[in-house]
Amino acid sequence: MSLLKALASMKTKSSNMPLPLMSKQPLCLSLVFTSIKMLERKFHPLTSSLALWGNVVLIRNRYDRTLPALIVKPKNREDIAAVLEYAKTKQIGVAIRTGGHQYCGASSATAPNIQLDLSKTFQGPDDRTLLRKRGLLRTSVSWPLKEFSAYLRKHRIFVPHGQCIAVHLGGHVQTGGYGQLGRSFGLFGDHVTEIEIVDHEGTPRTISRHNDPELFYSILGGSPGNFGVVTHCTIKVYRDEDYEGSTGMKCVYPYSPQKLQDILDIVVKMSDEVDADGRPAELPRNYDVCVSVLSSGNSFSALFPGRSKTLRDIYNGDDKLPNIDPNLPVYPRVIIVWAQWVKLSPTDTFDRTTWFDKLSLGCYPGVSMNYMDLKPQDMSLMTSNWWVMDTVREYPWPYVKSTRMSDKKNLRDSGWSKWISNRIDEVVKPENNGLFICAQIQPFGGAQSMTRLNANNGTAYSWRESTICCTLDCFYKPESEGKAREWFKKNEEEVCGPKGIFSTKDMRPLWGSFGEYNFSKVWNAYHEDEKKYKLLREQRKKHDPNGVFTPNTFCVPRAD
Ligand SMILES: Cc1cc2nc3c(=O)[nH]c(=O)nc-3n(C[C@H](O)[C@H](O)[C@H](O)COP(=O)(O)OP(=O)(O)OC[C@H]3O[C@@H](n4cnc5c(N)ncnc54)[C@H](O)[C@@H]3O)c2cc1C
Repeated sequence: MSLLKALASMKTKSSNMPLPLMSKQPLCLSLVFTSIKMLERKFHPLTSSLALWGNVVLIRNRYDRTLPALIVKPKNREDIAAVLEYAKTKQIGVAIRTGGHQYCGASSATAPNIQLDLSKTFQGPDDRTLLRKRGLLRTSVSWPLKEFSAYLRKHRIFVPHGQCIAVHLGGHVQTGGYGQLGRSFGLFGDHVTEIEIVDHEGTPRTISRHNDPELFYSILGGSPGNFGVVTHCTIKVYRDEDYEGSTGMKCVYPYSPQKLQDILDIVVKMSDEVDADGRPAELPRNYDVCVSVLSSGNSFSALFPGRSKTLRDIYNGDDKLPNIDPNLPVYPRVIIVWAQWVKLSPTDTFDRTTWFDKLSLGCYPGVSMNYMDLKPQDMSLMTSNWWVMDTVREYPWPYVKSTRMSDKKNLRDSGWSKWISNRIDEVVKPENNGLFICAQIQPFGGAQSMTRLNANNGTAYSWRESTICCTLDCFYKPESEGKAREWFKKNEEEVCGPKGIFSTKDMRPLWGSFGEYNFSKVWNAYHEDEKKYKLLREQRKKHDPNGVFTPNTFCVPRAD
């Protein structure tokens, strides 16, 4: 059966009407359909499978959140409009996906709802225009960060963004774009000047903070995927030559709980805005720092391209190292520190002794980068190369996850660095326990932080006053699921609340969602106050009157 025929004869669950062909061109080539008969929900837990039927790929998926009736890959705005019109007629929802990196699966849906996949839609020559002198870039949202950052490097420009190569701009721009330039420049979304969408009526619109400030605000951080289909955005970019003299380093250490705590003690001082001796001292905007911890067996090359062999050789050749995994040559467990100092003005001077020398103490010479000379580096080199991973860092297992921010400015007193080091050690230390951690800890706060100072810039990203962001992703083999869940439960009991060791409130960034999938039950973990939530609900009602952009429950609900 040809794909066209298959599409034309497909039936949705809500009605038995055949799906119409939505444009003169075939809508998209891949896809997928799930007839009612195929919608078996009780698959064996680990048996996602693929089968071919004619030209149609059938996916058996174990996740019932991600079983749309149809996945459409539009070729242009007309196709998008046709899909929205079809969904309106059928009274079904459209889940919008670009990179598919929404942690809870909110860029998908369950049949009879359908998915619109923009991962390849807008990648033509007209989908990106750079006005370098004006510091503006118009780009489509269909690019993954790897490609996007390589483009920036080619043109010696940069902008803050996240670290994972396969995240796409479609979701990233709406969930913020948190990354290594968070303190020095703010979020990716802070740099947006215009957003191009196809709205619920299928009409292309360009939204700015001037022509529709409430919609602009809502799209940037309010409820991703639920106001319109974002196709392009225009962003402010920075030029390397305006930041000459900046530097950074990437240091790796063999993992030990004590080393982790020592490093976190330093990072906590930076976040608490005290100097090394504990005296009050604002952390200048110039600094960004991030700490990662990885269990063994990770694809270490993600972090140090081309150097993983060196690291393995170092480990193999030195039997005095602490905590060497017995399973070498599997990649070992490591701590990684990424640090950056940006020369923001010609009068800024860099003093390596303040933080950098402390953060690099005892790191591995053969693998760590630039920590000895601290040579000046192009900002575009660091952002496109050092601060973006070269391959996937996550483990190929299910996981328990939390990403939270802290409201504490005195984390030294709460003993958090010791607590978190112990919690991580519980997963990392035992051999062959079937658990694997990816932890990431980064200060975003302080008086001079641009993430904080960009509050009230017309975007809805929440928790601008927060200090540190901590992600704990614990991957588990099936037989270790119980251990992973126990570990997670204890973390959850102690981490936040009035007596919380990390935060007095449950504060989650939209980019790192986890847990409860019904947004209306947990909205106050993602948005700080009722005023904002009500505004977002009103905007949802206005821009999604028919529920076409409501394919699942992970969204700010429309006002009644
Ligand atoms: C391994 C991993 C690492 C990550 N690292 C970082 C990081 O370093 N920094 C950071 O800030 N975030 C990070 N994230 C989170 C990620 O940036 C967000 O989840 C982002 O929204 C993903 O965008 P996407 O297009 O890839 O995902 P998708 O799942 O396709 O989309 C995410 C959300 O945006 C909506 N959406 C997507 N495209 C469109 C569109 N074109 N129009 C309208 N709505 C759309 C979707 O409906 C969904 O709600 C990471 C996620 C993962 C899984």
